[in-house]
Amino acid sequence: MASNSLEEIKIEDLKGVGPAIAEKLRENGLVTANAIAVRSPKEISGLTGIGETVIQKIIVDARSKLNIGFETANEILEKRQNIIRFTTGSKSLDDILNGGIETRAIFEAFGEFRTGKTQIGHQLCITVQLPKEEGGIEGSACYIDSEGTFRPERLLQILERYPQLDPKKALDNIFYCRAYNSDHQLLIVDKLGPMIEEKNVKLVVVDSIISHFRSEYIGRGTLSDRQQKLNRFIHKLLQLSEAHNLAVYITNQVQSSPGVFFGDPTIPTGGNVIAHASTYRLYLRKSKANKRVAKLIDSPCLPEAEAVFSITEHGIED
Ligand code: ADP
Ligand code: MG
Repeated sequence: MASNSLEEIKIEDLKGVGPAIAEKLRENGLVTANAIAVRSPKEISGLTGIGETVIQKIIVDARSKLNIGFETANEILEKRQNIIRFTTGSKSLDDILNGGIETRAIFEAFGEFRTGKTQIGHQLCITVQLPKEEGGIEGSACYIDSEGTFRPERLLQILERYPQLDPKKALDNIFYCRAYNSDHQLLIVDKLGPMIEEKNVKLVVVDSIISHFRSEYIGRGTLSDRQQKLNRFIHKLLQLSEAHNLAVYITNQVQSSPGVFFGDPTIPTGGNVIAHASTYRLYLRKSKANKRVAKLIDSPCLPEAEAVFSITEHGIED
């Protein structure tokens, strides 16, 4: 392991962190030196109520102990070997994703209404729990719902396909939170750290990332505020995915791009902020009956490719 590995140094090992401060940091999900080192004094102080000067000293120590700086490509390769994958339930979708959904990454699905974004979110909350031999990673899931479309009944239907999972236990492993506005959405993600560790969360779903932002920030003048906040939100997700080796699945809406006269004018909302942060972007569109087409349009090391899947009573299938 590299000396600046993310999981190694606990907050208790930092100068200036006594039991009382450690507890406040823990309550807010700040459990490792890394979580401290990548934040500003203002941010941590705002979260914990501890004074900024105290926090400043702790951050300095966290940064020096972590030796943040360059790593060799071999060290990065070693870290990336911790990445684990689980199935989406559709072989063809898994294939274009190099084997399925992976940890340390953000998967974004965008597309029109009823293209299957929410269905995939439900499906993944179950497949992440499957035994390793059966394509899962034996983790639990956290579902942040901004649109009010989460349905445990739907999960039970999908679970009929996986008799190896006890339905009651499977639902106990899915932690649901309704986000009521964009500030609330940010707060939820801020507070996720301790639960992730305690409950072995390996998947965080945000369905959708954008709806509150779209309805709260209307008009050109507010766009940069919106983008800044959205940026903060998505970077928190990215931090979580790396610090806890988990997968993030977000859904996004679409809009019509002005100025596109030929071809498909449908583009994802959220602009560059979401585009740059998503590791994998899937564009979903409807095909015949219950068939859907997913096109992988943006990935660091996979080609553009399409997969066809079906939405059935038992979830996402080929
Ligand atoms: P989006 O989130 O992209 O708006 P959804 O993920 O909610 O769309 O997908 C809606 C589609 O899923 C609809 O076409 C609906 O018919 C299908 N669907 C939802 N539940 C079931 C079910 N129990 N059996 C079969 N199809 C279903
Ligand atoms: Mg939906």
